[in-house]
Amino acid sequence: DNGRTPLMAGNWKMNLNHLEAIAHTQKLAFALSEKDFAAVEVAVLVPFTDLRSVQTLIEGDKLAIRFGAQDVSAHDSGAYTGEISGPMLAKLKCAYVAVGHSERRQYHAETDEICNAKVKAAFKHGITPILCIGEGLDVRKAGDQVAHTLAQLDGGLKDVPAEQAETVVIAYEPVWAIGTGEVATPEDAQEVCGAIRGRLAELYSQELADKVRIQYGGSVKAGNVAAIMAQPDVDGALVGGAALDADEFVKIVRFRD
Ligand code: PEP
Repeated sequence: DNGRTPLMAGNWKMNLNHLEAIAHTQKLAFALSEKDFAAVEVAVLVPFTDLRSVQTLIEGDKLAIRFGAQDVSAHDSGAYTGEISGPMLAKLKCAYVAVGHSERRQYHAETDEICNAKVKAAFKHGITPILCIGEGLDVRKAGDQVAHTLAQLDGGLKDVPAEQAETVVIAYEPVWAIGTGEVATPEDAQEVCGAIRGRLAELYSQELADKVRIQYGGSVKAGNVAAIMAQPDVDGALVGGAALDADEFVKIVRFRD
């Protein structure tokens, strides 16, 4: 036992309105039991418009499911039309927020500098960032996946103090495996997740690196999750498409069965 509780997080992306979100969370609550929550931390990263409904359900029924958002502004307040701030997410008791998901990097031009500011904004307000990093297909074909991903790690964590970094979650998500049905092999996932932990040890300390949870993300399903989770440096999964099917997501949470 490495002491790290696996974190299975569902990234709903831009799916499920607030009524669907309630129904979906109820299904998860109905299926999951104390036994599941004792072994695995379960979280849902939902659209902003779902947060209040999901929070009300989870708090009202004292469910062990954690929840959070898919993005956060780097700014606390002000003239940033359309943005949502860390204080707003904290007020809704978000436990997590995804930062730098590849879709945000790709469609919203989020750089490592922007991700770094968002990581700091999350920590400032007591929300754990799930920093998403990973290479595209061209980088993978050139064999540069480790260097590329570690540069994103360095950028995202720049000037983040150890007492915050020790609670960060890193999601290694090779872009070519996201939403494509093409999952990385367990060895591919381990290569980069192991390198991420090694870099955390260099940036901070081995003790800190051994505490940080590193997720794999990219076409994770019930059928492939166990082999990926068997890798020593993979501590969970960030699940997109398969998280929209409650039965499938429950099977992913029960990857040990
Ligand atoms: C994701 O959205 O982070 C993701 C990994 O998506 P999918 O599981 O659909 O590949």
